[in-house]
Amino acid sequence: MTEALRDQFGRSIEYLRISVTDRCNFRCLYCMPAGGLQWLPKAEILTYEEIAEAVGQLAPLGLRRLRITGGEPTIRPDLQQLVAQLRAVPGIEDIALSTNGVRLEALGPELRAAGLDRVNISADSLRADRIAAISRRNLGFDPVRAATAAEQCGLDPIKINVVVMRGVNDDEVEDFARLTIDHPWHVRFIELMPVGDMRELTWEHVVPSDEVLARIRRLGALEPSAGPARGNGPAAYYALPGARGSVGVITPMTHTYCGSCNRVRLTADGRLRTCLFGDHEVDLRTPLRGGEPLEPYFRRALAEKPREHALLQMKVGGLKALSQVGG
Ligand code: SAM
Ligand code: SF4
Repeated sequence: MTEALRDQFGRSIEYLRISVTDRCNFRCLYCMPAGGLQWLPKAEILTYEEIAEAVGQLAPLGLRRLRITGGEPTIRPDLQQLVAQLRAVPGIEDIALSTNGVRLEALGPELRAAGLDRVNISADSLRADRIAAISRRNLGFDPVRAATAAEQCGLDPIKINVVVMRGVNDDEVEDFARLTIDHPWHVRFIELMPVGDMRELTWEHVVPSDEVLARIRRLGALEPSAGPARGNGPAAYYALPGARGSVGVITPMTHTYCGSCNRVRLTADGRLRTCLFGDHEVDLRTPLRGGEPLEPYFRRALAEKPREHALLQMKVGGLKALSQVGG
């Protein structure tokens, strides 16, 4: 049997985040400049067949779980075809989607039918005017409607990701937490990361997760919770008394998870990135298109996976918007 993939620190790689596009129908304040970015030319973007081929070669080395992300993955045409191709790869146990939710009501049923297991919906406000201001687009997105639609078509668990920004949406922390009382949803509050081109947001907008939890405690005592049954990743979970769902915090700015990091990223143009931060990446598109086996490239990428990211030391250097690296 082929030796499982392990990096130089013994961490195994069983989770791959796949960016299927760098484009988006939103322009979130913390992610993209208002005018968008320099988009990748179509010819440089991996086809669904190429993505499935790369996953097919990684699965025998221990890859088990996938997340489809972007940019906004649901704006790439026929996304259900990719889901079906990934579902057919032996060894893949779990396929998740990260989306801004705008197209989820329309696409949820066919994505589910193609084999999608679960979804993370990004939602930074429950108020229509604020959603439009933060995303710089008025597309009629309603987070509660999107999550309800996702639940109805059988996606499970449903996670809602909120980037908390002081003075922008931090007054809605309790409203979001309240959703978990009546719905079996998992609301995760993410610390804003000061990356990319976001001049309107600075360190002053970062709300530490301890402060977020203190606000939620105004609603009731928080008990530590196991959180969702699948895909716990780097969040710590709690539950309000009697709640059907849970609340979680993801704290890239005040803690690091690097010691237990088991994830790598495939960019839309076929580069394998072993850390969100820094410039550790290996081109897979050239060997894929040249019909070469990918395993030596996987092993080289893994050998270079850094012990931990440099964000806390603010050595973010050339870090691009998360949308470009499949955040
Ligand atoms: N478009 C999809 C979405 O919004 O869920 C998937 C891609 S988006 C880059 C993935 C996640 O990164 C979203 O939950 C978004 O809120 C988060 N994100 C992007 N920029 C961020 C930043 N500067 N700080 C914290 N989270 C960020
Ligand atoms: Fe688009 Fe997601 Fe970035 Fe918002 S966070 S601009 S929805 S890629």
